[in-house]
Amino acid sequence: MSRVLFASAKVRELRADASLPAKFKRMLDKYPLADMFADKSVAIKMHLGGHYGYTTIPPLFVRMLVKAIKDAGGRPFVTDGTPAIPGAIARGYTQEVLGVPVVPAAGINEGYFVTVPIGYRTFKEAHMCGEIYHADAMIVYSHGKGHGMSGFGGAIKNIAMGNFTCSTRGSIHALGDTDFEWNSELCTRCYLCRDNCPTGALTFKEDGSLNIFSHHCRYCMHCVRVCPTGALKLRQEAVQNFQIGMALATKACLETFEENRVLFVNHMTNITPVCDCWGFSSPAIVPDVGIFAGTDIVSVEQASIDSIKTENFIEGTLPHPLIVRDDIDGHLLRKIHSKDPYLQVEETAKLGLGNREYNIEEVE
Ligand code: SF4
Ligand code: SF4
Repeated sequence: MSRVLFASAKVRELRADASLPAKFKRMLDKYPLADMFADKSVAIKMHLGGHYGYTTIPPLFVRMLVKAIKDAGGRPFVTDGTPAIPGAIARGYTQEVLGVPVVPAAGINEGYFVTVPIGYRTFKEAHMCGEIYHADAMIVYSHGKGHGMSGFGGAIKNIAMGNFTCSTRGSIHALGDTDFEWNSELCTRCYLCRDNCPTGALTFKEDGSLNIFSHHCRYCMHCVRVCPTGALKLRQEAVQNFQIGMALATKACLETFEENRVLFVNHMTNITPVCDCWGFSSPAIVPDVGIFAGTDIVSVEQASIDSIKTENFIEGTLPHPLIVRDDIDGHLLRKIHSKDPYLQVEETAKLGLGNREYNIEEVE
């Protein structure tokens, strides 16, 4: 069993000391931050969102985390993938607010990276961002929300998609793009598949070839089912490749740190249905949960996903074309995105990165 600290978003008394930021401070006090981070450069890896997104982690919490690391003798900096940095200023992620520099993880031009081996299918190697690779320690501070490709976006997604360059992100996404088999010779271009796709994921290019944007794909199989010639098939064994690729990238990243130099914090408020990279916010699909933290990424992710309950779903919060599908069993995010959010957790556990069993220790 792994230990997971939890601070509830519920405020049980009308006083500031009972609110989530105060609990977050008490949560951080429970960790031996000086042992973990004193005299170390500490990358606070975040996903800073984009454009009109306003539901990422509030800068107030980031500033508190920065102060805690500084007080423990560490040298923190906030970082995210290079393309996310310029726009983050508009949403309050600045040195003035946070108290430390906000650094592009792979340098100004995405040219600062270290190649690490992966060796999974087409995903042979990954370009790990230089600022992360060369940091002594890391705090993976992630906003938990839904994700079109992996069901859930938390610590694993924050690392796998954000601690590597855009080209590596493309390699991981490409693993998911291999899910469908399309036989051009059998295809009559009747376009029934495209016209029956509920999400607009399936289109035809100008040269007549079929294209599926797997982020939008719910794997509803409408396209496969309506195809009159058998030209389009879904490779079941390949559906999970994207999440497996994320787990492998996560392992490759975490292996570059010494033991007990990484802390995972999942911020489970404003749990929106899609990723912050969309550049907008829609209402939360469940009430705010709180904050989970631990040194075991698997248990922190497991606890975070477990906290999103189908019975807590708030009607009217899903933008078109998303729906909660009654014909799919399991987790709420699986019912919305048709992808099992636990799969990446299972894969990271299989890779030896942690334990799916956990004990919650609530911080009051
Ligand atoms: S499986 Fe469903 S969502 Fe995906 S491309 Fe086919 S019709 Fe569209
Ligand atoms: S439904 Fe089948 S035959 Fe028709 S356009 Fe799509 S893939 Fe081609």
